[in-house]
Amino acid sequence: MKFEGGCYCGAVRYAVEGEVLFQAQCQCRPCQYVSGGGPNFFMMFAVDALTYTKGTPARFTRSDLEAPRSRDFCPTCGTHLTTRQPNGKTLVVKVGTMDDPSLYSGPSAAIFMGEAQPFHCIAEGVPQFDTLPPR
Ligand SMILES: [Zn+2]
Ligand SMILES: [Zn+2]
Repeated sequence: MKFEGGCYCGAVRYAVEGEVLFQAQCQCRPCQYVSGGGPNFFMMFAVDALTYTKGTPARFTRSDLEAPRSRDFCPTCGTHLTTRQPNGKTLVVKVGTMDDPSLYSGPSAAIFMGEAQPFHCIAEGVPQFDTLPPR
Protein backbone atom coordinates (compact mmCIF):
# COMPACT_ATOMS: atom_id res chain seq x y z
CA MET A 1 0.00 0.00 0.00
CA LYS A 2 1.24 3.47 -0.84
CA PHE A 3 -0.25 6.80 0.25
CA GLU A 4 0.52 10.21 1.68
CA GLY A 5 -0.96 12.19 4.50
CA GLY A 6 -0.36 14.90 7.02
CA CYS A 7 -1.76 17.10 9.74
CA TYR A 8 -4.66 19.53 9.66
CA CYS A 9 -2.48 22.64 9.07
CA GLY A 10 -0.10 21.05 6.55
CA ALA A 11 3.12 21.69 8.53
CA VAL A 12 3.86 17.95 8.90
CA ARG A 13 3.57 15.58 5.94
CA TYR A 14 4.37 11.89 5.59
CA ALA A 15 4.54 9.16 2.97
CA VAL A 16 3.79 5.49 3.63
CA GLU A 17 4.84 2.57 1.50
CA GLY A 18 4.49 -0.94 2.87
CA GLU A 19 2.30 -3.84 3.76
CA VAL A 20 -0.63 -3.31 6.15
CA LEU A 21 0.05 -5.58 9.14
CA PHE A 22 -3.24 -4.97 10.93
CA GLN A 23 -6.18 -2.60 10.57
CA ALA A 24 -8.73 -2.06 13.26
CA GLN A 25 -10.74 0.31 15.37
CA CYS A 26 -9.55 0.73 18.94
CA GLN A 27 -11.89 1.58 21.79
CA CYS A 28 -9.21 1.91 24.50
CA ARG A 29 -9.39 4.86 26.88
CA PRO A 30 -6.10 6.45 25.67
CA CYS A 31 -7.40 6.38 22.07
CA GLN A 32 -10.55 8.16 23.20
CA TYR A 33 -8.39 11.14 24.22
CA VAL A 34 -6.78 11.44 20.78
CA SER A 35 -9.84 10.52 18.71
CA GLY A 36 -12.23 13.01 20.28
CA GLY A 37 -14.19 10.29 22.04
CA GLY A 38 -14.96 7.80 19.29
CA PRO A 39 -13.05 4.71 18.30
CA ASN A 40 -9.61 5.29 16.74
CA PHE A 41 -9.41 3.92 13.19
CA PHE A 42 -5.88 2.92 12.27
CA MET A 43 -3.58 0.83 10.10
CA MET A 44 -0.38 -0.77 11.38
CA PHE A 45 2.89 -0.81 9.42
CA ALA A 46 6.56 -1.56 10.06
CA VAL A 47 8.19 1.64 11.40
CA ASP A 48 10.34 2.05 8.30
CA ALA A 49 7.24 2.10 6.04
CA LEU A 50 6.61 5.72 7.10
CA THR A 51 8.82 8.67 6.16
CA TYR A 52 8.20 12.26 7.20
CA THR A 53 8.45 14.38 4.05
CA LYS A 54 7.77 17.83 5.53
CA GLY A 55 8.20 19.28 9.00
CA THR A 56 9.15 17.47 12.18
CA PRO A 57 6.49 16.08 14.48
CA ALA A 58 6.66 16.43 18.23
CA ARG A 59 6.76 13.14 20.09
CA PHE A 60 5.17 12.36 23.45
CA THR A 61 5.82 9.29 25.59
CA ARG A 62 4.36 8.93 29.06
CA SER A 63 7.09 8.32 31.65
CA ASP A 64 4.78 6.75 34.23
CA LEU A 65 3.82 3.66 32.20
CA GLU A 66 5.68 0.37 31.96
CA ALA A 67 5.30 -0.06 28.19
CA PRO A 68 4.31 3.35 26.86
CA ARG A 69 3.46 4.13 23.25
CA SER A 70 5.07 7.16 21.61
CA ARG A 71 2.67 9.52 19.92
CA ASP A 72 3.76 11.78 17.05
CA PHE A 73 1.77 14.95 16.54
CA CYS A 74 2.04 18.29 14.76
CA PRO A 75 3.66 20.88 17.07
CA THR A 76 1.68 23.64 15.35
CA CYS A 77 -1.89 22.36 15.09
CA GLY A 78 -1.75 19.36 17.44
CA THR A 79 -3.06 16.73 15.01
CA HIS A 80 -2.13 13.26 16.20
CA LEU A 81 -0.53 11.39 13.28
CA THR A 82 1.00 8.11 14.40
CA THR A 83 1.57 5.94 17.45
CA ARG A 84 4.77 3.90 17.83
CA GLN A 85 4.39 0.57 19.63
CA PRO A 86 6.66 -0.24 22.60
CA ASN A 87 8.30 -3.03 20.54
CA GLY A 88 9.99 -0.36 18.40
CA LYS A 89 9.12 -2.30 15.25
CA THR A 90 5.62 -1.17 14.34
CA LEU A 91 3.58 1.99 14.25
CA VAL A 92 -0.03 2.82 13.55
CA VAL A 93 -1.21 5.55 11.22
CA LYS A 94 -4.42 7.35 12.09
CA VAL A 95 -6.78 7.03 9.15
CA GLY A 96 -8.06 10.60 9.52
CA THR A 97 -4.63 11.98 8.59
CA MET A 98 -4.52 10.21 5.20
CA ASP A 99 -4.99 12.52 2.20
CA ASP A 100 -7.66 10.05 1.10
CA PRO A 101 -9.10 8.28 4.16
CA SER A 102 -11.41 6.29 1.88
CA LEU A 103 -8.38 4.16 0.96
CA TYR A 104 -8.94 2.54 4.36
CA SER A 105 -11.12 -0.48 3.64
CA GLY A 106 -12.52 -0.60 7.16
CA PRO A 107 -11.55 -2.33 10.37
CA SER A 108 -10.87 -6.08 10.45
CA ALA A 109 -11.39 -6.06 14.22
CA ALA A 110 -12.70 -3.92 17.07
CA ILE A 111 -10.16 -4.05 19.88
CA PHE A 112 -10.17 -3.07 23.56
CA MET A 113 -13.95 -3.45 23.71
CA GLY A 114 -13.53 -3.72 27.49
CA GLU A 115 -12.98 0.05 27.53
CA ALA A 116 -15.65 0.92 24.93
CA GLN A 117 -18.31 3.54 25.58
CA PRO A 118 -22.02 2.73 25.16
CA PHE A 119 -22.19 5.09 22.14
CA HIS A 120 -19.36 3.37 20.20
CA CYS A 121 -20.66 1.62 17.08
CA ILE A 122 -19.22 -1.60 15.67
CA ALA A 123 -20.22 -2.58 12.14
CA GLU A 124 -22.00 -5.92 11.78
CA GLY A 125 -19.62 -8.83 11.21
CA VAL A 126 -16.53 -7.10 12.64
CA PRO A 127 -15.00 -9.41 15.29
CA GLN A 128 -14.76 -7.84 18.74
CA PHE A 129 -12.01 -8.41 21.31
CA ASP A 130 -11.91 -7.43 24.95
CA THR A 131 -8.26 -6.39 24.53
CA LEU A 132 -6.11 -7.56 21.60
CA PRO A 133 -6.91 -10.53 19.31
CA PRO A 134 -5.03 -13.70 20.31
CA ARG A 135 -1.77 -14.19 18.38
ZN1 LIG B 1 -0.30 20.80 11.73
ZN1 LIG C 1 -6.45 2.34 21.58
